[in-house]
Amino acid sequence: MISIFDKKKEDLKLDFENAGIKGYRVDQLWQAIYVDLSSDFDEIKTLPSEAIDYLKSSHVVSPLQLVVKRKSKDKSTDKYLWKLHDNKLIETVLMRYDEDGHRRRRRTVCISSQVGCALDCKFCATGQQGFSRQLTVGEIVSQVIEIKKDLLIEEGRPFNNENNLNIVFMGMGEPLANYSRTIEAAKRFNDQKGLNIGARNITISTVGLVPKILDLAEENIQVNLAVSIHAPDDDTRSETVPINKTYPITELINACKKYIEITNRKVFFEYVLLQGQNDSISHADKLGRLLKPLMCHLNLIPVNPTLKSNYIRSNSEKINAFREVIDKYGIPSTIRMEKGIDINAGCGQLKSEYIEIEG
Ligand code: SAH
Repeated sequence: MISIFDKKKEDLKLDFENAGIKGYRVDQLWQAIYVDLSSDFDEIKTLPSEAIDYLKSSHVVSPLQLVVKRKSKDKSTDKYLWKLHDNKLIETVLMRYDEDGHRRRRRTVCISSQVGCALDCKFCATGQQGFSRQLTVGEIVSQVIEIKKDLLIEEGRPFNNENNLNIVFMGMGEPLANYSRTIEAAKRFNDQKGLNIGARNITISTVGLVPKILDLAEENIQVNLAVSIHAPDDDTRSETVPINKTYPITELINACKKYIEITNRKVFFEYVLLQGQNDSISHADKLGRLLKPLMCHLNLIPVNPTLKSNYIRSNSEKINAFREVIDKYGIPSTIRMEKGIDINAGCGQLKSEYIEIEG
């Protein structure tokens, strides 16, 4: 049965009217599932019994079934492994950040957009699993709904945009390879009558699908764009990011420039530091020259080692030396705080481990 989160409001209105239920009832349903976070149609007291019966006969609320939830030792990070209706597995991560003098206290939900991924980045656990299928809008949106339910219990009050809930499409999959559903999900997060999460609190991360970056620039939604660059030249990048052969760095940077020009928003670049592969001073220098002309922010991410690859993280001296070079170019950067390393919180890692255990 289809999840209610797979339905657009307009379509549900038509469904209701065809079933002889007044269209305005959909607004009450929307409030119940997106704002009050009802998990069960029977809980929705605002709806008449015909509407409840109709919904129960044709829809489920959540398409996600929890398999395991794991908490990091420092309690800052929770990783969820979900089973879908066809027994496929996906992951979601909740990260808690306290106020740190620079940024406010916030919660970040890292969501998956596909089951597996076709792009085969060499250091990525999801890439190592291969592609299975696209997630539906409902499967994407429900990851945030389920975590909001847990946050409501934890905080004792709704956690929303005002107290800083961020969503990053940095879990399993390539969101821009599931383009229309990713955009629809982002609009659903942003819906003022629903989750009401500010577009600026939503980040779509891409391996660098050039035509889709250009499409995203034309969308009427102000989300952030993150681009996984991981190397400053084609030879180094093609070693770990095979799609670089289709969309090489010059094309990717040109698409980012266009994106910035059209949207007037900065681009976030992600750079996973791999010891001996992309972390030398000369890589840093080339990267500085490449990114200097762009309105951007650089996130340096020490790699989370995965089961099936031999990459190891650069040591802290290397990381600091790399960053010093970047600083000289005047490019704002952050070394991404490590979260949940003890619970395999990196992209696709818990699922990989689970598959190993379960066979
Ligand atoms: N496909 C998209 C979004 C999912 S991955 C993308 O490529 O951007 C989100 C981020 O996690 C990407 O920057 C990706 O390169 C990074 N990542 C993947 N595997 C990682 C690992 N083992 N350690 C650290 N970062 C990783």
